[in-house]
Order: sequence, then C-alpha cells, then structure tokens
Amino acid sequence: MPDYDRERTVAFHAVQAAADLCQSVRNDLEGDVLEKDDRTPVTVADFGSQAVICQALQTAFPDDPVIGEEDSSALRTDANADVRGRLLDEVRAHHPGATPETVFDWIDHGTADEYSDRFWTLDPIDGTKGFVRGDQYAIALALIVDGQPQVAALCCPHLPHALDAEPPESRGQALLAVRGEGTVQTLLTPDTDAVPTPIHTSDTTEPSESRFCESFVSSHSSHSLAAKAGERLGITADSIRIDSQAKYAVVARGEAEIYLRLPRPDSPDYTERIWDHAAGMLTVEAAGGTVTDMHGRPLDFTHGRLLAANTGVVATNGPLHDEVIAALDAAQA
Ligand code: AMP
Ligand code: MG
Repeated sequence: MPDYDRERTVAFHAVQAAADLCQSVRNDLEGDVLEKDDRTPVTVADFGSQAVICQALQTAFPDDPVIGEEDSSALRTDANADVRGRLLDEVRAHHPGATPETVFDWIDHGTADEYSDRFWTLDPIDGTKGFVRGDQYAIALALIVDGQPQVAALCCPHLPHALDAEPPESRGQALLAVRGEGTVQTLLTPDTDAVPTPIHTSDTTEPSESRFCESFVSSHSSHSLAAKAGERLGITADSIRIDSQAKYAVVARGEAEIYLRLPRPDSPDYTERIWDHAAGMLTVEAAGGTVTDMHGRPLDFTHGRLLAANTGVVATNGPLHDEVIAALDAAQA
C-alpha cells in the first residue's frame, strides 16, 4: 500500500496557504461591499485559492490532472480588470514573482474534466454564501486513485475546534484524512507546533438520539424529505445548519450523526459535483463513518466532474447508515 506521505504533506500545506489567502480577502471585506452585492471578493478568493493550490500540485506532481471548479476565462475579460489586480496582489503575498499569465496558468492547471487512474479534485471555496456571510466555508482537496479518494485535505477557516467552543480563539481547523489511517484536525495557526488531534464519528447506535447536519441554503437539498426521514427515525434534536463541507467535518467529529444531501423536487436533475464531496467523504470515512448516495450505492468518482451515477449523498457516523437509507426509502414510498 502506498503511504502517500508526500501527497498528504503537499495537500495539507496547500489548503492552509489557500485558507490564508481567503481569510486575507475576507478580512478586507467591508459591510457596504456586501450590501452592494459585489461579487469581487468572492471571485478574488475563489481564483486565488485555486491558483495557490494548483501551483503546489503542479510543482510537486506535474503529471497529476486536477479537476477543479474554476478556470481563468472569466478573469481575462476587460470587465474583470479590477479582479485581476486584486487577485495578483493576493497571490503575490504567497508567490512574489507571480505575473497575470503565471496565475492564469496555475488556475487552468485545475481544468481537467475526464476521469483518470490518479487525479486530484479541488473546490477552492466551497460554500461561497457562507464565506460572504462570515459563516462556514471550506477549501476541499482530494487525491483520487483508481476511483477512490485516498488523501483528503479539508480546511474550514471559520470552524471552531468544537461547535460548543467559545469563539474565536480556536476558530479555523484544517482536517487531513488518509484512507486506512484515520482523520486528524489541527488548529489553523502560523504556530508550527499545532498538534493534530485524531477525530472520530459518534458511536451512537440509537437513531432517535442522533442529529442531522444540513445545508444552510435550503435550495441545495430537500429539507422536507430529510424531515420525513427524521420523523421515521424518531429524531427530535434540532438540525445543525451550516454551509459547505464543514458539514462533513461536523459528522467526522461526532457532533452530528447524519448529513443528507437530497435532490429537491424543483431541481430533480441536479447532479452533484465531485469536488463538493470527495474530500468530505474521506474525512468522514477515515473517521469511522459511511458515505453513499441516497440509495446506498457507493459514490462513483469515475465520471469526470460529476457524480453522474449517483443520486444525492448520505453521510453517517457508520452504525446508523443502513437505518438511515431504509428510512429515506420508506419516506419516499
Ligand atoms: P452547501 O454549502 O452544502 O449548501 O453547498 C454548496 C454547494 O452546493 C456549492 O458548492 C454548489 O456546487 C452546490 N449546489 C449549487 N446548486 C445546487 C443544487 N441545486 N443542489 C445541490 N447542490 C447545489
Ligand atoms: Mg462547492
């Protein structure tokens, strides 16, 4: 079995550098910018994150394709001159010699779209709505080998080390998962002595004692089907509603048992993107949980950018998985 030592080190450092860039953009946001619905900061952080991570991957593993969410085409237009300038400033904080062309090349290193035996998938900012609101967002990177996520780096710059912890001192967690070896979380800090802590899913076997974690944005999943399944399972606890793959982190840490992502009646044809799930899935699985689609089928990462062979996603602590799938089946009948 390969140990993926280099891969995990490069991926973990890359997502943390990207988080630093995203937080730098975030910290400059003024309330009035958000009120004017100016997408510029989101765009700068999205592209900057992809540039920094792809630069690291291209340098360390030049032959590995990267299926990322962004490409540089929109950046090259005249309308985006302002974005380009701000992007260059942010990237130069990490790579002082960067030029617009090198930044475009790094971003476009992430534009692979076909399956291969070994590739990376990247969401440079997952949960942009949470990013803008000042809530949860994530930077999600996974290495997929023979169709299976093997290494995942998931950085959640606004996630405290535990949901009930008092912010802000512990805010910002970087999670690293390696198949067969477990999941750890580390406080995001310039202090190189930060100690990674192993995390585990909850060992609850009683469905009525479990808790859902679900999307903050209700248009991303059917909350009503989730509620019906929850009723069958006897769940009474309030759901944790947060943006991004931070939901997978919450399940991996045992703070919720179930994350459901279910097609909504008004967008039944929505197909999930691989970068929205690959890193989160391994983060949960290596911590003891189980992740499948809503019919209990394994997630299939062999179809390029989309989870084309799957419907919805269900992540659980592990012991509850079969009962959750059965409750979903029954709730739809
Ligand atoms: P979340 O923060 O978990 O609500 O999800 C954010 C992700 O939802 C984004 O990265 C999008 O890729 C994805 N998304 C956008 N539209 C939909 C939709 N109609 N159904 C499910 N996911 C969506
Ligand atoms: Mg996303």
